[in-house]
Amino acid sequence: MELIDTLLNSTPKCLKEFETSDSEKVIKDKFHLTKEFTSRKVTCGCGNSDLLLQAYKTSETKGFFKKTIEDSFWAPGFIVCPNCEKRSLVFDPRQHGWDGEMGANCSIVEEGELVTVKPETDKIYVYFSYQNPENYEDFEPDGINNPEDYFDMFGIVFGANEELIFEYECA
Ligand SMILES: [Zn+2]
Repeated sequence: MELIDTLLNSTPKCLKEFETSDSEKVIKDKFHLTKEFTSRKVTCGCGNSDLLLQAYKTSETKGFFKKTIEDSFWAPGFIVCPNCEKRSLVFDPRQHGWDGEMGANCSIVEEGELVTVKPETDKIYVYFSYQNPENYEDFEPDGINNPEDYFDMFGIVFGANEELIFEYECA
């Protein structure tokens, strides 16, 4: 098997608390993701996939005559299962992905206040990528046996309308 296929078929540790299943069609089509990406639907370990998402939120007023408020969401993200009341960290760039693994994160985190993104439960999807597969070829000789944790982009998508909540460059 090609290295990229091995990576795309592995589960990074930030998703190990959950069950994940292939959602290639719905998410890859919607966000025009290339073949270096994989996407998964997230299910709680208890089997429930109607979940709440928590993230940090900032709001900005845009426009002059007609004002609109634009919300932005920031990592870390947490998934809450109302069925078994479990709350789990799903992505924090300070510890997940290429830069997180290297201790080199400089992304914006914990901006604004921690909120529940939408009040009602819904499906949650994630996607992540390994866009330069050659970067991973020296991992095994160097004794790094978790190359799947070094993804270079991570996005989280909420709800039946597949709304992108946040996306982070991780490398
Ligand atoms: Zn649960």
